[in-house]
This record gives sequence, structure tokens and C-alpha cells, in this order.
Amino acid sequence: MIIKAKLFVFSAPSGSGKTTIVRDVLKNYTQFAFSVSATTRKRRSVEKEGIDYFFISEEEFKKKIYSGEFVEWEKFYDYYYGTLKSFVDGNIQKGISTVFEVDVKGALKIKEAYPNSVLIFIAPPSIDELKERLIKRNTETDEDLIKRIHRAEMELSFKDKFDYVVSNINLELAKKEVKEIIEKEIS
Ligand code: 5GP
Repeated sequence: MIIKAKLFVFSAPSGSGKTTIVRDVLKNYTQFAFSVSATTRKRRSVEKEGIDYFFISEEEFKKKIYSGEFVEWEKFYDYYYGTLKSFVDGNIQKGISTVFEVDVKGALKIKEAYPNSVLIFIAPPSIDELKERLIKRNTETDEDLIKRIHRAEMELSFKDKFDYVVSNINLELAKKEVKEIIEKEIS
């Protein structure tokens, strides 16, 4: 039997509930893997090295750029983020479906590199609600918060380039909708 790995790429402005939805997918589909990106951003207290990200220095990150180790990478909020080719290709070879959580430009680049990827955009109910969620989350400095809100507006303008757009007005409904998409894609 040939097992064909599927790549599910999730994007959304930060504060859209994307991480919660991605976690739910990984909980429901324990056979799926999460694509652990490399980043130069500081680790948040809840995050684990090698599980949420590979936290590396800017110098190490740049080395990996020059040696072509990334499928795609982006720099935003003064930090670098990148999808590791070895990680993705290793999973594809093993037939392991992989879930990505990247920004919109990264998602489009993943689709270019792996045309069968399924791009899913999680849309926040509104920019105002998104601001509120980010403020409540309280994980960013004021300066980073403003940058993230500007970025959210830019990211929203990309949503039509995605295969699916799931509106996260109600988290349970959004989770259900994502599950339906995955079922359809793997069946
Ligand atoms: P955070 O700092 O909140 O973990 O992530 C900030 C943004 O970086 C989010 O939009 C997240 O999806 C994105 N991101 C995380 N990893 C990658 C990656 O490997 N590539 C790209 N392009 N974006 C990423």
C-alpha cells in the first residue's frame, strides 16, 4: 500500500486562534506530525525546544539560509522564521502527513515547493476582536503588539489565495470545519 503524505498548511494573523486549531488537529490526528520551524525569536515560557520551534541564533539561521536548508523563510518583527527542508522531506518519505503553522507568504512558498499542499486560512471575526485577543494574551511588548496588528491587516489581504478560508467566529465550529476539510482531503 502506498501511503501518501498530505501537507496541511495553516496561516492566520496572530491572535486568530490558529494555534488552538492546529493543536486540535494534532490531537485528533495523532498520526500527523507538526512541522517544527526554526526561529531566532526568544522562547516563550510555555514553549518547548524542538516541539514548538528550534530556537537558534541569528548566526545559525543565516548559515542555514546560505546552505539552502529552508523550504521558505521570512523575517518579521526583527526575527527570522523558517521551514526546514529536511524535516518536511523526511516526513514525506515516511508517508507522514504534516501540519504547518506559518505566515501567509510562507504558506504560498510551501505550495510552490509542494504543489499538493492544502492551504487553510483561519480568519479572525474582525480586526477589532483580533486586537482585543492579542492584548488579552499579553505575550508581546506594546511595540511588538502594534507590529503584529499591522501585519494582521496585511495577512488578511492574502486570504483569497488559500484553498480554504475558515472563519473563527466560534472556535468549536471552526474546529469542526477544519476537521471536515481534513477528512475530505485524506479520504
Ligand atoms: P509566533 O512568534 O507567534 O510563534 O509566530 C509569528 C508568525 O510566524 C506566525 O504567523 C507564525 O505562523 C509564523 N511562522 C512560524 N514559523 C514559521 C515558518 O517557518 N515560516 C514562516 N514563513 N512563518 C512562520
